[in-house]
Amino acid sequence: MSVFDALKGQKQALPILTMAAKAAANDASESQEMTHAWLFTGFGREKAALLFAASLLCKSEGCADCSDCKTALAGSHGDLELVKTDGLSIKIDDVRELVQRASWSPSTSNYRVVILESAERLTDSAANALLKAIEEPGLRTVWILCAPSAADVIPTIRSRVRTLAFVAPAQLPTTTSDEILRLPFEIKDIAGAFMAAAKIVELAKSGAESVAETLNDEELKKAKEAWGQQGSKLTAGGSKAIKELEKGQKSRQTRMVHDTLDTILLDIAVKYRDQLVGVASDSEKLKIIAKIDAVMDARARLARNAAPLLTMEALMVSLR
Ligand SMILES: [Zn+2]
Repeated sequence: MSVFDALKGQKQALPILTMAAKAAANDASESQEMTHAWLFTGFGREKAALLFAASLLCKSEGCADCSDCKTALAGSHGDLELVKTDGLSIKIDDVRELVQRASWSPSTSNYRVVILESAERLTDSAANALLKAIEEPGLRTVWILCAPSAADVIPTIRSRVRTLAFVAPAQLPTTTSDEILRLPFEIKDIAGAFMAAAKIVELAKSGAESVAETLNDEELKKAKEAWGQQGSKLTAGGSKAIKELEKGQKSRQTRMVHDTLDTILLDIAVKYRDQLVGVASDSEKLKIIAKIDAVMDARARLARNAAPLLTMEALMVSLR
């Protein structure tokens, strides 16, 4: 068994991560395969970060069975720093503290792993404070930043990390349906723009819901087993843990909606770009470029946690 079993569908990322884990275990920390600063993007990036962390903290490259693996996957390993953010931004003071803690030597494992979720919420000054740390992280420290897409972190960060994109499992539509892609091009009036926005958000929500429900049920079942539920009674610690779990599931579902919308927006942008090829007049070209800009702007707003429906409505009105 291996922690990487959970990443079977990730055809691009999986071989890179397994080779990195192998190189790290053989202490080839300066090798090509292993690097000390990563950016994970796309679907399930936070889970993937935990799995990779487990493979680095485990004594046998992520057996999924030892206590290093188990505590790493639960986010509670002593040499793992898991940073989640409830706030709208990650500020410079938070990062300074984090950089300091990241430089501590690992206590039981070979590495100290820092997972920074929602790296898209780093303020510019916070991102700058992070630069030096991820450029020269120290031999025993590994940084894994997570963000919806590489475009969501500033270029100076992007150029110092190895980026891995994770794709949605088969149940989520990985390509946007033609029906959805046609919508922005068929808008005739404001009412039509609002309808198109509603339809796209609805699709993203229902897709995320169906996937989330399956995951949620499975996790709840396991958590209840772990806390030894008998009948409808849970121990005191158990109910608190279940509440925490449910809270995490809710925010994951929100993220999934955002991720799906992000994919749709990228596909729409590509469609406009394709249109550019057949256009001769400069003024027509400029119009299309303005539309691509509007789509990218909507992505940026969603990444900053803007309300999906409002964002899509504003976009569809400007694409009209
Ligand atoms: Zn293990």
